Amino acid sequence: MLEALNRISIEELSMTYTVTPNCDNCKYTDCVEVCPVEAFHEGPTMLYINPETCIDCNACVEECPVEAIYADVDVPEKWASYTALNEEKCEEYPVIEEAKDPLPTARTLEEIQAAEG
Ligand code: SF4
Ligand code: SF4
Repeated sequence: MLEALNRISIEELSMTYTVTPNCDNCKYTDCVEVCPVEAFHEGPTMLYINPETCIDCNACVEECPVEAIYADVDVPEKWASYTALNEEKCEEYPVIEEAKDPLPTARTLEEIQAAEG
């Protein structure tokens, strides 16, 4: 029982949120506005969440207009590698502190889903 509880608490402690490919070439940055701890880092074509900074508040999930953000436990299987990628890229790219205009290539969720078939 104690072992099970320890396992649960370790899993909760190591939870994070993950930005997935719907953000790629979009960068709407609505998520940056609501993050209370500046957990987002900005790469050339998408953002990434730093698991060391993220406090798992869930605020960014609803803000993203293209549904790019998931709690790590909810990331679709096809994007499972993105949780580790987010962590890795945050070491490479700087924190983004303020929202900015989206990239000219930004698509709506409907356009992204239509392209996926
Ligand atoms: S709101 Fe969504 S698309 Fe925009 S930067 Fe954040 S994760 Fe990317
Ligand atoms: S879950 Fe909260 S703390 Fe983590 S990136 Fe999203 S808004 Fe920031």
